[in-house]
Amino acid sequence: MKVVALDKHYWPRGGYGHWCPGCKSGHEIDTEQKNSSGAIWKFDGNLERPTFAPSINGRWGTFADPNYKPDPGHDHSGVCHYFITAGKIIYCGDCTHALRGQTVDLPDIPKGSYVTSIWKAKGFS
Ligand SMILES: [Zn+2]
Repeated sequence: MKVVALDKHYWPRGGYGHWCPGCKSGHEIDTEQKNSSGAIWKFDGNLERPTFAPSINGRWGTFADPNYKPDPGHDHSGVCHYFITAGKIIYCGDCTHALRGQTVDLPDIPKGSYVTSIWKAKGFS
């Protein structure tokens, strides 16, 4: 399973989750209500070869807030900026992880990952 609809109990804005092999974690994409930045995405409904638009530009820590002060030795700041098009993840060059600039197949969500506990209310296991 490459994308899973998020249960509104956990994700009231409605959307889909997928596994990101660049961050080695799950990401959520809002498709029904705008997020706190006013962004919302279109999903073509294809669960095997999904397309979301526009690009997803995730920023954390100092990349989201220049005044953010991470604890010494625990700076999780980063950028994950990508397109999901026809089942591929196309990473942009401004990502801070190792897959920046690369295109990879959107992987199945690994069993046992943290997303399983957050997302399983919708039937994912
Ligand atoms: Zn990522």
